[in-house]
Amino acid sequence: MCADVFLMKSTAWTWPPVFLEKGGIKKPGCILCADGSVSLEILPVSSERERMGDFALHCECRYCGEYGIAADAYCFIAEDRRRGAALLSGYVKNRSLDPRKISPFFCGKESLSDSPTVDLVQKMRKWEVVSLENVLEFLQSRSVVQRLEDILVNLCLLSGGWTHLIDDRDLSFALYCSSEKREVFELHKELNERGWTECQFVTSGSLLPVSNVRITARGWERYEDILRGMPNVESRQGFIAMWMNPSMDEAFKEGFWKAIGESGYDPLRIDREHFINKIDDEIMAQIRKSRFVVVDVTGSRQNVLFEAGFAMGLGIPVLWTCKNEEAEVKKMSERLFDTRQFNHILWDSPEDLRTKLRARIQAVIGSAPRRSLEEKEGNR
Ligand SMILES: [Zn+2]
Repeated sequence: MCADVFLMKSTAWTWPPVFLEKGGIKKPGCILCADGSVSLEILPVSSERERMGDFALHCECRYCGEYGIAADAYCFIAEDRRRGAALLSGYVKNRSLDPRKISPFFCGKESLSDSPTVDLVQKMRKWEVVSLENVLEFLQSRSVVQRLEDILVNLCLLSGGWTHLIDDRDLSFALYCSSEKREVFELHKELNERGWTECQFVTSGSLLPVSNVRITARGWERYEDILRGMPNVESRQGFIAMWMNPSMDEAFKEGFWKAIGESGYDPLRIDREHFINKIDDEIMAQIRKSRFVVVDVTGSRQNVLFEAGFAMGLGIPVLWTCKNEEAEVKKMSERLFDTRQFNHILWDSPEDLRTKLRARIQAVIGSAPRRSLEEKEGNR
């Protein structure tokens, strides 16, 4: 496990993927956590793509869970390995533990832009297609506290209740988004110090440095708070808060509207022309119902910032965007309400906005809850 593995590269990608463990024994393994007992399956790609060396994999790992991966994403991880792979293993683990979520299919840049592989997978409707790059960016931006909370959520999903001890056999590095013993030790020490968990530290003889993990009443309380902080998980509405100005019309139609729609959500913008300088009840009611709010700070409008703050107060995820012009960024930073500490999608054109925002929605929010069959029929 977590030996110094690497993918053997040849002119064409070899199948099965070959890993080299330290002892020189070759065997295939999970690309994310390097476990050797993973079950791997090649997904059909067109014969033309196959000749080009393209492939897609379906992996079921006893530690990470189930995921699919396109060839270019696979190669990216194989080259990048270590840190990125460990974060992704935690991402897959969380999705496999949470019954509301579906398994991801990781795509790289090429497979996202043009590949029958992706079409094929979408046809299979089994996975949620996510951009590897965006997921990594999101995971790498998690603060230490957010990361501890992510681990607590995983442990709570794994645990049967607050008096239960988690079975040591269910513990894995994937739960901690880590591949290092030392790091798991430090993370667990912090979880214990916060009063969220109790455990025993083990110095030798086991895979992980911890055993007998239990969530405390305080840990469960925090878990419930975290869940309350993720409201409207069943909502299909994506609210757009932006500057109402003719200069933004194209970005609205070709960028925001399409990105949200193509991600499977219903975009909503309330035309506020009649409500200038008035906090509108309708707007607040609609934000309350939304799964997420896209906040574009171009133009630095105060009502946009108010809507962002209102959504954040309710725990509704906010996706920040801004037109990528130096003047805009500068103007933004001079404002009293500075939003620079948030990770903004900087966009150059409506098309650029559409691509970037769609990828961010897929990575951070995930796909929309499926419509019922009747509803689908009704929309035809
Ligand atoms: Zn794995």
